[in-house]
Amino acid sequence: MNSRDPSELDRGRWALKKAARGAVAVTTSAALSLRRSEIDGRSPEIRAFTYHRFGDSELRAPFLVSAERFAQQMRWLADHELAVSLKDVQEFLGGQRELRDGCVLVTIDDGFESVFTHALPVLQRYGIPAVAYVSAGFVDAPSTLARERPERYMTWDELSMLQAAGVAIGSHAHTHRSLGRLMPSEVRDEAARSREVLEARLGRPVTSFAYPFGTPSHYTDETGGILTEVGYDMAFVSTHGCIGRGHDPMRLPRIKVEGGEPMWMFRRCCSGAMDTWAVMDHLVSRWRSLRGIAG
Ligand SMILES: [Zn+2]
Repeated sequence: MNSRDPSELDRGRWALKKAARGAVAVTTSAALSLRRSEIDGRSPEIRAFTYHRFGDSELRAPFLVSAERFAQQMRWLADHELAVSLKDVQEFLGGQRELRDGCVLVTIDDGFESVFTHALPVLQRYGIPAVAYVSAGFVDAPSTLARERPERYMTWDELSMLQAAGVAIGSHAHTHRSLGRLMPSEVRDEAARSREVLEARLGRPVTSFAYPFGTPSHYTDETGGILTEVGYDMAFVSTHGCIGRGHDPMRLPRIKVEGGEPMWMFRRCCSGAMDTWAVMDHLVSRWRSLRGIAG
């Protein structure tokens, strides 16, 4: 990993974003502690955290978390017995399993090599069950396909080892395109093909999906219906929020864990302090659409 990482932000934007996230975390956790007594007795809520890449150090890249920070975070989850598996979450949603309030599912999107090289040893050390969402069409991809990517994708051998070590594998579409912008036939192809290829190569059923990009313009009721038809029973989006029993299993919100943030931010994320970041996300996407900025 070097300092010319393509996803690195400039200093100004990075500082602004970190200040905004810190302010949301501090003000929300103050509000939560005031409200805590009123909300005692409510039904439990859990959170799915989203990671993408891991590195040797923290760059100004929101999608990259250092292996050292990731290890601190996983150790904290293990010490507090908060980590749950995909199966636990599925059973919780279906009403067959009780989970403590504040449990966390670790999800890792895209399938880059650092999941194997940096995250897997940490997950194994602390016994954390995680799920990796992989774009099947990029596994073992020739470098031309992966040219604009910050890292190479995992190989099938690496994915097999990841699965053998206890990490669940889910689909992140076949070629990481926005399903919200495709024709229904293309959505069906992205969803069905990735599932078939992952199942054929890894030998286990693949029934959960994470939408590429995952913000509201990238999924619809129609895409959810197609995912159900081709055999998925859970789908995660990137909209911020927590998951209660009875939540629509085809639109499960998540909370992105960003690089360059101290442990107190992570602990506050676990207690719900970043749940309101959804408001900021919404404002930013409104501003981008008003300014005509894509993505
Ligand atoms: Zn992705």
